[in-house]
Amino acid sequence: MTVQSTSLDVVDGLSVPSDLLIGGDWTAAGDGGRFEVIDPATAQPIGSVANGTVEDGLRCVDAADAAAAGWATTAPRQRSRVLTRAFELMSEREELLAELIVRENGKSFPDALGEVRYAAEFFRWYAEEAVRITGEIRTAPAGTNRIMVVRQPIGIALLITPWNFPAAMATRKIGPALAAGCTVILKPASETPLTALAVGAILAEAGVPAGVVNILPSRRSGEVARAVLRDSRVRKLSFTGSTEVGRALLHEAADQVISCSMELGGNAPFIVLDDADLDVAVEGAMVAKMRNGGEACTAANRLYVHRSIAAEFAERLAAAMAGLSVGPGSDRGTDVGPLVNQAAVDKVTELVADARDRGAAVATGGYALDQPGYFYAPTVLTGVTPGSQILAEEIFGPVAPVVVFDTDEEAVTLANATEYGLVAYVFSRDLARGLRVSEALESGMVGLNRGVVSDPAAPFGGVKQSGLGREGGHEGLLEYTESKYIATNW
Ligand code: NAP
Repeated sequence: MTVQSTSLDVVDGLSVPSDLLIGGDWTAAGDGGRFEVIDPATAQPIGSVANGTVEDGLRCVDAADAAAAGWATTAPRQRSRVLTRAFELMSEREELLAELIVRENGKSFPDALGEVRYAAEFFRWYAEEAVRITGEIRTAPAGTNRIMVVRQPIGIALLITPWNFPAAMATRKIGPALAAGCTVILKPASETPLTALAVGAILAEAGVPAGVVNILPSRRSGEVARAVLRDSRVRKLSFTGSTEVGRALLHEAADQVISCSMELGGNAPFIVLDDADLDVAVEGAMVAKMRNGGEACTAANRLYVHRSIAAEFAERLAAAMAGLSVGPGSDRGTDVGPLVNQAAVDKVTELVADARDRGAAVATGGYALDQPGYFYAPTVLTGVTPGSQILAEEIFGPVAPVVVFDTDEEAVTLANATEYGLVAYVFSRDLARGLRVSEALESGMVGLNRGVVSDPAAPFGGVKQSGLGREGGHEGLLEYTESKYIATNW
């Protein structure tokens, strides 16, 4: 039975569905359960959404399966048109969607607007890629036959996304999956399900056929993911989130030998060499550290600065950080919104306390704000000593620990001394030197004299325990295809 979704009016002018999207219908959870979504700026609920059950997860697989053959054989041009329309609708409603992100995630309005634009670009980029899926024909070395390779949709994909970029992490997966001809089940983070549901409504309006995109908010993430991954019809898992959960999901996926793309945690080093342009480096540090209030996998986590410029760099950075206004993201003048929840504030507080106990000095900030909501002051720590917890873990908050180094080799050794390898940043006026250091860094991405690397046209992803596979660019599309080799005589 088709049930009209219970809609929420969290943002004036935007009606957001709050039920599950299964097979083109908005439906309540099988057991009628719902869970609350909290505004991090007030710590108050803003509404509730359906809490998907294991059975709902399996209904999503049925729906994705029923739609799979039709979508895989839909002309690439038509798949492209649908994605283009989704891009247009997201762009038309960018301010409303940004306000929705602010309400459930807390980030500042400019960050949220930047995210919506970035998110929509994945639909545009993959609309363009959908019609450029190539194969290959080679001659066998023996000259006896041709090696023909075609790319086919990999099949039903389970997509699991985090709360820190609730729109972009969803579109970065849905865009390439749909372009490749796959059907999907999206399980958004429980802190931020509303944005994913709003994206689902836009896709339906853009003409995505029933069952091609299914959306399953659920607080029972472990159980639901396990059941879906055990269904042999599911052939792809694309996960963005913590390394800990990613590792557990890789174990789950192993039983059915499911193809996995993993975008996991980071611990980005930010290296300022002695010949860097300090204005450029400080500006880069502000972006790399403070985009999303520090709640980004790409956030600069450890700032390694050459001894000769460290004091001046820290002073300028502290001044810039102290100048940021902290408050609810809904105030248009806010630079830094609240963290996502109390646990995030507690973690940042603990990391700063440990660094101070080990000798670090606070150049600015260093405290949680004493007011409702989950606010932490922009903070710069200097003289952070090796062994401090803050250098080993993702901070996921507005804190910049500065560490001094003496040689390029030492900077590279310090930067690589982590199990993570998502992104690194290097600042130098000497391009050759910057490239040499970039090549020596163990990371999937490097920002060279840039504090931001994210681009829908670029392959985003990490090495070591930061992940497997790439999202964005042409590489992102290939993650949703399987190559088939046909040995051919003619
Ligand atoms: P998380 O706790 O790992 O959760 C991510 C997603 O996994 C959520 O949807 C969550 O659902 C779900 N989940 C949790 N436990 C699960 C389980 N046992 N089985 C299946 N799904 C499960 O991460 P997060 O706190 O939301 O996000 C922050 C992390 O994401 C950071 O480590 C950050 O670095 C990483 N991240 C990486 C990238 C990248 O591209 N590399 C981008 C953004 C974020 P519930 O919300 O219902 O628990």
